[in-house]
This record gives sequence, structure tokens and C-alpha cells, in this order.
Amino acid sequence: MGLVDIVKKGTFVDILRGMSVTGTYFVVDKVTVEYPKEKLHPYPRFRGVQALLTDPETGDTKCVACMLCATICPSRCISIVGEQTPDGRSHPAGFDLDLSRCVFCGFCEEVCPEAAIVMTRQYELATFDKNDLYLDKERLLANQVYAHKELFAHPGERGAPAPAAAGAAPGTQEGRRP
Ligand code: SF4
Ligand code: SF4
Repeated sequence: MGLVDIVKKGTFVDILRGMSVTGTYFVVDKVTVEYPKEKLHPYPRFRGVQALLTDPETGDTKCVACMLCATICPSRCISIVGEQTPDGRSHPAGFDLDLSRCVFCGFCEEVCPEAAIVMTRQYELATFDKNDLYLDKERLLANQVYAHKELFAHPGERGAPAPAAAGAAPGTQEGRRP
């Protein structure tokens, strides 16, 4: 051990240097988020769980059962049963999405000619029950409250449609909203 090392040890230079780093982080803004007490707000084009949007004027789903989203989906996790309404429109009688197979690529949203299916800001999908990952039409419609603001007027805002009543889809409980 050289003289310099002996002086360093005797004057606690290394310890003081380390303490100064620790002390610095007491006063600077922290970058960590104490999840789940604190939550981050996803970016506007974040691709979270899907939602089916309704037409604010008619309250009916915008989907016309064209099957494009089901066709382009690389995971084949969308299945749709189409039907004709009495006034001759095409309409989904059933719309199911298996979230356990979804890779959140966003192709379904991009290909939709009616802007009916969208990726939302909802990212809290953890569940103990695999059945929660099967989203039927009612759950997908209920998820529209999580749509990004430019796509859906949120409840209480001008022209906001009431979300369809549905059982809780994964990560759709009110208390868990970001
Ligand atoms: S995000 Fe991609 S994988 Fe998921 S349902 Fe849409 S197209 Fe399919
Ligand atoms: S969500 Fe869009 S792409 Fe999919 S079936 Fe409905 S209208 Fe077609």
C-alpha cells in the first residue's frame, strides 16, 4: 500500500466521495415512479388493449363487419360473426378477441376503414384468470373509455357516448385506470 492510499484511507476520501453521490440524489428530482400508487400516462399513440368505438350519434358500433382486421391480424386472434340489420347495414353480431395471443402490433387499428377498432391507453392487463383475456363485443365496447382522447370523448365531456355495460375486462376496473 502506497503513501497515497494510506492518506486516502486516513481521511475517508472514498467514503466521502460516495456519500456525496448519495446526497446529490436526495435533492434532485427522482425519475422512478412508485407504481401502482403513481401511474405514468401513456403517449398518445400507445398501443394498449383494444376497444370498439360506437357512433356518438346513433350509439351503434362503428364496425361494419368487413373482416379486414380479422384477416390482417398476424396472430389470428380476432373472430367476427357478421349480420345484416333490418335497414340493410352490415353489423357484427359477435366480435371476439383473444388477448392472450395478441402481439399489440396495431394492424387491426390501421386497416379498419371505419376507425371502429382502436388501441387504447390501457396497459394494466395482469390477471389470475385466463378467461379475462377473452374479450367479447361487450367488453370491447366498454373499453372505449380508455381510448385516446382524440378518438373518443371521455365521460363527462361534450358528446361522450355512454360505455356499454359489461363485465370487467382485464385492466378495465375503474380503480385501476391510469
Ligand atoms: S394488435 Fe395485432 S395481433 Fe393484436 S388483434 Fe390487432 S392485429 Fe391482431
Ligand atoms: S373493426 Fe373495422 S376492420 Fe374490423 S370488421 Fe369492423 S369495420 Fe372491419
